[in-house]
Amino acid sequence: MMLQGKVALVTGSTSGIGLAIAKALAAEGAKLMINGFGDAAEIERECQELGAIHDGADMSKPADIERMMKRCADELGGPDILINNAGIQHVSPVEDFPPEKWDAIIAINLTSAFHTTRLAIPGMTQRKWGRIINTASAHSLVASPNKSAYVAAKHGIAGFTKTVALETARDGITANCISPGYVWTTLVEKQIPDTMKTRGLTREQVMNDVLLAAQPTKQFVTPEQVAALALFLCRDEAASITGANLSMDGGWTAA
Ligand code: NAD
Repeated sequence: MMLQGKVALVTGSTSGIGLAIAKALAAEGAKLMINGFGDAAEIERECQELGAIHDGADMSKPADIERMMKRCADELGGPDILINNAGIQHVSPVEDFPPEKWDAIIAINLTSAFHTTRLAIPGMTQRKWGRIINTASAHSLVASPNKSAYVAAKHGIAGFTKTVALETARDGITANCISPGYVWTTLVEKQIPDTMKTRGLTREQVMNDVLLAAQPTKQFVTPEQVAALALFLCRDEAASITGANLSMDGGWTAA
């Protein structure tokens, strides 16, 4: 068990990519704190299965994040592995983009990672070991129409990650982004109706002509594939991978 004795915190791990990463880390023996919204009974089941504790901190609220980070340190003694993964999406042209949606996307998809990271680094530095892995996106490298806030937040997290990598390079800490293309999760499923409306398309057209149009493999990435890469970045053999933005997008950004 590669991660025996390590503490991992995965934000937004009650579904999708975060849940798959949490499962992969737990399977390697990490002590886990999970985070995110959802049905209380389901979250309890997940905690049992993973031997995890759950913190319901709202990643749009810095005070909640501070409380969660303190609890992680007090109750588990970490994190050694920080996965900034919580994220939301909203699809709309810039001129109609609701300002409160812009603020929420920047807060959850970008600023929350600043807060968790700034609070995690002192402990990692002290222990001379740390892994910071940010779920960015192909949208950290390229844009799509109607996703201004998301694209801005994801480009932002890519830059933030590089800076953190430079600042922590001599402390046994690595900081990287994983940038998936379209992964079949509720986040993607939920944007189908809006895209149907904005572009006047059917569900099948959105899936094939909008989502998978950008992905040369014509296959959705799976949450388990993303989790496998996150696990690799936690290995000692990955100690020299830092400041990288690792694409897993079926060739999207190669085009
Ligand atoms: P998802 O909707 O399945 O999961 C999102 C998670 O974030 C959930 O656990 C949810 O409860 C949590 N969350 C949302 N708002 C929160 C808040 N305010 N506070 C705390 N937790 C909150 O989505 P997903 O597709 O698994 O997305 C995970 C990450 O992967 C996001 O950062 C997303 O941008 C990124 N991503 C997704 C895709 C994709 O195609 N699905 C592609 C590239 C990147």
